[in-house]
Amino acid sequence: MNLTTKTTCPYCGVGCGVVAERQPDGGFAVRGDTEHPSNFGRLCSKGAALGQTLDLDDRLLYPQINGERVAWDRALDAVAQGFAQTIREHGPGSVALYVSGQLLTEDYYVANKLVKGFIGTSNIDTNSRLCMSSSVAGHKRAFGTDTVPCNYRDLEVSDLIILVGSNTAWCHPVLYQRIQAARRDNPKLRVVVVDPKRTETCEEAELHLAIAPGTDTWLFNGLLVWLHDQGLADTTYISEHTQGFEAALAAARASGATPDAVAKICGIAEADVLTLFRWFAETEKVITVYSQGVNQSSAGTDKVNSIINCHLLTHRIGRPGMGPFSFTGQPNAMGGREVGGLANMLAAHMDFAPADVARVQRFWNSPVIAGAPGLKAVDMFRAVEEGKIKAIWIMATNPVVSLPETDRVRTGLAKCPLVVVSDCIGITDTAKYAHILLPAAAWGEKNGTVTNSERRISRQRPFLPTPGEAQPDWWIMTQVARRMGFADAFPYESAHEVFLEHARLSGYENDGQRDFDISGLAEIDASGYDGLIPVQWPVTRKRPHGTERMFTDGRFFTDTGRARFLPITPRLPVNALTPDYPLVLNTGRVRDHWHTMTRTAKAPRLNAHTPEPYVEMHADDAQRLGLANGTLARLESAYGAMLARVEYSTNARPGSVFVPIHWNDQFARLACVGALVNAVTDPFSGQPELKHTPVRVKPYDPRWHGFVLSRRQLTIADATYCVSIKGDKFWRYELAGETPAADWKGWARELLCAPQVDGRAEWLDYLDAGHGRYHGVRLFTRDGITTLESCVFIAPTAELPPRSWLAGLIVKPQVSAEERMSLLAGAAPRGQVESGPAVCACFGVDANTIRRAIATHDLSSVEAIGQSCQAGTNCGSCKPALKVLLEEVRAARDAA
Ligand code: SF4
Repeated sequence: MNLTTKTTCPYCGVGCGVVAERQPDGGFAVRGDTEHPSNFGRLCSKGAALGQTLDLDDRLLYPQINGERVAWDRALDAVAQGFAQTIREHGPGSVALYVSGQLLTEDYYVANKLVKGFIGTSNIDTNSRLCMSSSVAGHKRAFGTDTVPCNYRDLEVSDLIILVGSNTAWCHPVLYQRIQAARRDNPKLRVVVVDPKRTETCEEAELHLAIAPGTDTWLFNGLLVWLHDQGLADTTYISEHTQGFEAALAAARASGATPDAVAKICGIAEADVLTLFRWFAETEKVITVYSQGVNQSSAGTDKVNSIINCHLLTHRIGRPGMGPFSFTGQPNAMGGREVGGLANMLAAHMDFAPADVARVQRFWNSPVIAGAPGLKAVDMFRAVEEGKIKAIWIMATNPVVSLPETDRVRTGLAKCPLVVVSDCIGITDTAKYAHILLPAAAWGEKNGTVTNSERRISRQRPFLPTPGEAQPDWWIMTQVARRMGFADAFPYESAHEVFLEHARLSGYENDGQRDFDISGLAEIDASGYDGLIPVQWPVTRKRPHGTERMFTDGRFFTDTGRARFLPITPRLPVNALTPDYPLVLNTGRVRDHWHTMTRTAKAPRLNAHTPEPYVEMHADDAQRLGLANGTLARLESAYGAMLARVEYSTNARPGSVFVPIHWNDQFARLACVGALVNAVTDPFSGQPELKHTPVRVKPYDPRWHGFVLSRRQLTIADATYCVSIKGDKFWRYELAGETPAADWKGWARELLCAPQVDGRAEWLDYLDAGHGRYHGVRLFTRDGITTLESCVFIAPTAELPPRSWLAGLIVKPQVSAEERMSLLAGAAPRGQVESGPAVCACFGVDANTIRRAIATHDLSSVEAIGQSCQAGTNCGSCKPALKVLLEEVRAARDAA
């Protein structure tokens, strides 16, 4: 293995280049790749912590059948025979693959070819369906193909960036940093955020339009009409390069598109509506970014097209610094789109038109080929529940957590005759339902390519040995395909061979008729593949260095070569609020976690930022419902329920609550928000409405609350609410339950008093049985040095000691006599200051330290905070939070 390996971050769709460097102790440090054109060396908090996530804890290392370790041959035979038998008995439509934007393009390619070209069904879909399929559908409707016109450099030369449904600061942090850097160089650059929720992205925006959930299409229809009525339509461009304009304008006008009507339905001030309209009108270089807030909607595709309509009207597309720009969520969502990983795409951006089907079949020389779209994610798991899908293979994703109505997904998988799961982690919520578990190679071990949001193909290269018997996904599928009788068509011995075939298909009978063409890479040899530098497709003989921007010539990939305006008739979310479910549930990501946390929860510094599942709500709503800040709440929808910690927020829109998507059974009990989410979908994209589910929230009043800090990992069975959080050399458990222990002291000692091999263990405790309060502390003394081994605090309410001082103590090499005196009170001795919530993940700087630095040194800028206490000086992900603290301290000072 090399000492230094250039690869690509496995998290979001920004696709940052990283460099993994072997350390003297054999571990790896990860830093940003200064030569990668997506990030130029920058990383966010998640990317910067990658080095902390490389351990083998929880790894699936060997194939298993029904929980028993078996040899690869046996596992592969079982998968191939199980699928073949199901197909024989029930037809190809009775099997399905559910894959993932975490797969590499080469993995995706083999999966898609096997299912569509050889099994003969299109029942392969990807978790990208949950992420950006509305953008795909919108692009195809407008451009005739799924093409992202812009690139990241366009963000830097733009003069107006409108971020719609995009918490860029948290979800695409390096692009947020690039935008902020561009603002310093270009004072004209303005940023507008359109989002029902005030997010950290708003901290640096000139304008925030907190529109009512689901009203985006009214806003952009209004913009279309207003721009037209102001005489700002580019009539030449419209007549020469587009079609459908009149119908789109008429539909927009019919939707009630005057600024006052838009303001009313969107629930915002008319002046703000007009400000956005005027800025769009007076600024030539406008980029409209859209992300999950647009896509994850039952009207997601219409939202995308309402945005694209405005760019077509004004010819703000295909030119530097302007265009509609979809930010993808996953590292290889785009690669999946390229190979046909979605059930409604065939391969290489070809559809199910008869000519495409015949062409792909010719190229693959396949015996059968799917001729129509298959089941999209939500429908696929419905079909599992209904018994129509009888064998499913799930790869690199956790649908039991991430899909809507997860209780139904669980029910379906529990009764499905054959569930195969390929994953690198063996204990996910989904893996529990697998009959056959296949160990897959993980990031750092895999070899292949990914494509980011700006169409840039980058290499993921291995720098770690593959542990146990884990194998790359493309290899696993190749072996199964051979066992199913398709050996000739699956001859691959390397990811490089798969890539070459994928590249050849993209150029096969193409002649410029299809946008996705990387035939310029179809003959690279193994060393060319190993050394491939990041490049934006199309890559052809004519364009060997890739293509920075699309649609520069006004030619689109529709039948007529013209872009299509779409008439948009706005629709509100499918499920309206009711007296029983009066609040809107909005879901999304937090800054420092990724998806179902299987990787990020390994990094203590990432866990510190948001240690528990929470429900963010406006204080007025919370108080009306009797929910105190920091207490537990039960959230219920018509589909399921969960528990979460209440977090008051002035950023929440009254009437809406926000819950992160990440927590699941692996880390918390009763904390999966997917259980609540309605499974209604967009009629064009099939993307579920993850941002709008009617819910109610009520206090959850367990009879006891508590927390445990322990140097050992524990299993705590008898708590209703139990969140386990990995700290730096310790584990933290947040607990609550319905039935208090009859003997708290006995309970605590049984849990925490593991035998010590040497040294002296001591148990200190305090019990107030009348009030249900118990504090216990275990100390360990060896060679005269005392350390804190574990502690437990139980109380009848959520009012418990702050965790930060105790957490600091548990990692200290020695507990002082003074600290020992304070232990049972759970409070720092006089003079020692409690730290606050984590803010800067890179340097572990907490909110109280930052507040003190601002007040003591009279700091006036984020940069000054960095100079004073380092916060924000590495990845910069916490800079919006630093700005909030700066304003908070200033406001407190002014008020004093
Ligand atoms: Fe990874 Fe962060 Fe870059 Fe996304 S922005 S690719 S998570 S380093």
